[in-house]
Amino acid sequence: MNRREFLRIGAAAVTCAAVPVARTASGGPQLAVTMDDFNVLDGVHMPAVERSARILATLKTYGAQGMALVIGRFAATTEGDTVLDAWAKAGHIIGNHTYSHLDYHAQATSLKEFAEDFRRADAILRTRKGFRRFFRFPMLHGGDTAEKRDAMRAVLERYRYREAHVTIDNADWLIDRELRARLAADPNCDTRPYRDLYLRHIRAFARYFRESAGEVFGRDIPHTLLTHFNLLSALHLGDLLNALRSDGWSMIAASNAYGDAVFRHSPTVPPAGDSLVWAGAREAGRRMAKPPIEDERWLSSELARVKS
Ligand SMILES: [Zn+2]
Repeated sequence: MNRREFLRIGAAAVTCAAVPVARTASGGPQLAVTMDDFNVLDGVHMPAVERSARILATLKTYGAQGMALVIGRFAATTEGDTVLDAWAKAGHIIGNHTYSHLDYHAQATSLKEFAEDFRRADAILRTRKGFRRFFRFPMLHGGDTAEKRDAMRAVLERYRYREAHVTIDNADWLIDRELRARLAADPNCDTRPYRDLYLRHIRAFARYFRESAGEVFGRDIPHTLLTHFNLLSALHLGDLLNALRSDGWSMIAASNAYGDAVFRHSPTVPPAGDSLVWAGAREAGRRMAKPPIEDERWLSSELARVKS
């Protein structure tokens, strides 16, 4: 999520009346798990290969193909090679998340530099089993100006890539950061409070984006959940998917989700990026309902309480 945007939108938004959301044919909302970064060099509490095995086992339980959006510099390591082989073997899609995770909204990041970073990751990833031409902008930052946005979209088109849009944006990275710091200081600490915050935060935002998508697009859409390849996912992705299932969600293959027409359009709004639902609302000139109380600000204060 655009960290500042998360708070700004929350402050500026007005509450809209809840709109009834159409159900999918299966009778409930659907989501695909997409996972970013693949920092295989972070081994706090659990090495990458073990993290990977646990996440893959969780995804297997739900029988749904996920999508891995991989930072090229991590793929180009021994650990990355082992992990991505296992993901491909399990039938998951591998996509491009740049080589070094540059922020395309930074003024200092030019199109030339960013496009080169994209191409560098493409060269590393394109020959891997499971690779498909999907690209996700780091931090969901698709360009701070119309010129940068359009120029990079033209590069993606030239390379016949599609954007791997996120609908359910969230701040799982923040919980993971605090969890790792806590475990580094005290390997035996109780991790349950972090799990509980994770579940509460994501469930609230899944519901929020689903309701908002119904309003913005006029129908229920398949959703794409943003997660990260990190310790939090290794420990608690199973708890999260279980909780979402009890909320009525079913897991679908990433290729099915991205097959929906809603993902074929990248809204033409500057700055580009964020959740596809937010961007779609901005493009249509609609105001989003106020985000749930369990937002990034709430998370920060709850995490500080857990730490003390
Ligand atoms: Zn990322």
